[in-house]
Amino acid sequence: MENNTASIKRKRKVEFLKERKALEDEITSEPQESVVTRPWPIVYRPEYNVHFFKLEKLHPFDSKKWKHIFNYLVEAKFITQDNIIEPQEVSEEQLLIAHTEKYLKSLKWSFNVAAISEVCPLVAVPNYFVQKCYLRPMRYHVGGTLEAGFLALRRGWSINIGGGFHHASETKGGGFCAYADISLLVKLLFQSKSISTAMIVDLDAHQGNGYEKDFMNETRIFIMDVYNKRIYPRDEKAKEAIRCRIELAPYTEDQHYLEKIEAGLERSLRSFCPDIIVYNAGTDVLLNDPLGLLAISPQGIIRRDELVFMKARERRVPIVMLTSGGYLKQTARIIADSILNLADLGLISR
Ligand SMILES: [Zn+2]
Repeated sequence: MENNTASIKRKRKVEFLKERKALEDEITSEPQESVVTRPWPIVYRPEYNVHFFKLEKLHPFDSKKWKHIFNYLVEAKFITQDNIIEPQEVSEEQLLIAHTEKYLKSLKWSFNVAAISEVCPLVAVPNYFVQKCYLRPMRYHVGGTLEAGFLALRRGWSINIGGGFHHASETKGGGFCAYADISLLVKLLFQSKSISTAMIVDLDAHQGNGYEKDFMNETRIFIMDVYNKRIYPRDEKAKEAIRCRIELAPYTEDQHYLEKIEAGLERSLRSFCPDIIVYNAGTDVLLNDPLGLLAISPQGIIRRDELVFMKARERRVPIVMLTSGGYLKQTARIIADSILNLADLGLISR
């Protein structure tokens, strides 16, 4: 798949990045916070995981995906619960920055939540349980995205082991996305004057129509979206917000996919200089994913994440990664392997 010259070039680039990182650490080392004791800028807590009194078994998703990613990273002796960041639940006040009051009130009806979560029997579940078992975990994910976003600005990179609800907008949820964490993060970063420009790189198999609707005509935000053109949501109006649009045919394979992404990233970063990259790293592009309908190998996903981190890190643009869609049983393992690969290459470090 990859010729020798490309492989040598890549290795040289990684070496170069490692050397520069070492130099940066020497210059900016903070004596009060040792590299050994400071936490990894990785955000997670056990409350992320969804449970519906076994109703989740009616859904094609691995509803404990986030726990599985965390467990793999712990097994690999990469992190522990004590050396990562535990986020707070997002507050109602914060949610109102991204959502209308009317929309948030609509979530008090199980019928509406059942439509968003695509777990139909939820219609019959009292809202108290819907809040506890689905919406509350989702609010922790959103808190995680916010925490990770601000962390990326301080540390250069961060990963929320959840989040990435790119179908939710100010007034509407859908496709398993109840809260618009990406829109909320970007709005909060602007509001706090932490950034003046942002780039969203969305490589989930689906079009990110939620934040696209929220950021229509927003010149401070550059949206690059790569998705399967034949699947949900096919939101033509929302597509107008995309500045680098790459539409893939069903069952696209690694080589074409990676070439398109690399060229798209180069083009985007040449024409726009962001203060942060929000990377929506959905893994439903995986071969045999029944929702994404693409044909990317596990190695292809790992290489993809590597490319995005390399482009961000070589330009010193802070990057925050969200894991978004992709809920096959093998997905958690691939995400964990990808994070370990980023660390092996020196693209992320403590
Ligand atoms: Zn998706």
